[in-house]
Amino acid sequence: MKSKYQKIKGTFDILPADTRLWKEMENILHNISEQFSYEEIRTPAIESIDLFKQNVGYETDVSKEMFTWEDHSHQQIALKPEMTAPVVRAYIEGGFFRSNPLCRLYYMDSLFRREKPQKGRQRQFNQFGIEAFGSSNIEQDVEVIMVAATCLKALNINDTTLHVNNIGSPETRTQYEALLKKYFAQNTRSMSSLSKKRLDTNPIRILDSKEKEDQSIIKNAPIVKELLNDSEKEDFNMLLSNLDALNIKYEESPYLVRGLDYYNGTTFEITTLSNKSQNALCGGGRYDFLVEKMGGPSTPAIGFAAGMERMIIESQYQVAKNSIDIYISSNDLNHSRQCFSIMQNLIDNNYTVFFDTNKKNVKNQMKDAIKRSASYLLIIDKNITVKNIKSNDEIAVSDFHELLNFLKNQ
Ligand code: AMP
Repeated sequence: MKSKYQKIKGTFDILPADTRLWKEMENILHNISEQFSYEEIRTPAIESIDLFKQNVGYETDVSKEMFTWEDHSHQQIALKPEMTAPVVRAYIEGGFFRSNPLCRLYYMDSLFRREKPQKGRQRQFNQFGIEAFGSSNIEQDVEVIMVAATCLKALNINDTTLHVNNIGSPETRTQYEALLKKYFAQNTRSMSSLSKKRLDTNPIRILDSKEKEDQSIIKNAPIVKELLNDSEKEDFNMLLSNLDALNIKYEESPYLVRGLDYYNGTTFEITTLSNKSQNALCGGGRYDFLVEKMGGPSTPAIGFAAGMERMIIESQYQVAKNSIDIYISSNDLNHSRQCFSIMQNLIDNNYTVFFDTNKKNVKNQMKDAIKRSASYLLIIDKNITVKNIKSNDEIAVSDFHELLNFLKNQ
């Protein structure tokens, strides 16, 4: 039957068949983050538009594709399209730079982007990510990539490629931008119209283009590595040698600059090996100037964000089937008090129960209990009978205490 209402295009329900896998994945990500001593942060779904427009970069897709509105007091509000700016805002507002100079945060949250829905691209989606504030040392970059690699391994996501690059300082970026602008301006003839537009607004973003006609132009574009100074080159080599030592495979990707305005230094992306157009699982990098730009003290920082829907699709992780300990059959209202008392005691003793409030007859309840993979059928009428569904063993018990003994001795 067709529902009178449908979900909004680009949004999805996560249904019970999938929530177990989601919960398992979330548990794994919580545990790994905490093992690396990252602490969870939760920020509001709504923020002021300026937080993103002024900090993510107006010309980026993230900033242009926000859901925004003006509220009754003429405040311009946005549903958050990404997490770094809100986390930095909270970091500054919470004064963490004072209380926790090496501050490591992680999040799992829903984000909203008004982009054209397609496979792997939703209007509401979930990201897991980490942000590490306070260290400019390259070892921090290694650790952040190590967290991402550990998470993917634990989720049994294997066929991936880690792309790494170093885009240098903001000065390098400006120089590179000028160099790219000059190069692309000489190659506009076969360039996509989108990239032609970006030539004026944000030429670096042309390198992110997925348009076919741009690929051969991008392939011969100048690379940022040539502009790096000695210490940046040394940092990059140090990062790579640590990844080697950790046996984390990577590819140097000289054109990986990442779309957002705030990156500097290390940038990285993890993609799946599939040919899907949306093959990016995780993207991250350093953003040493964002905290200061947003009104905090000068604080180096680095983080990554990973798409949870895409990780679920790629994960080979197997979850155990849902099962019930005790299926409760109580078909006579006269026994409902006793039934609820036993049920409460079972819950308090950490058993999972299924109570058939439809009051089918016992024969049908038995069938239903088997279908639901219950271990025991508990029949409460004038007697209390408990039956082991697998072995068919069955005994009468006089009270909860006896029932508990029976269950414990099985
Ligand atoms: P970004 O914040 O754009 O760097 O994205 C980080 C990760 O989030 C990507 O690598 C994707 O896995 C995921 N992601 C970004 N946008 C979407 C979207 N619209 N729908 C689903 N996943 C997304």
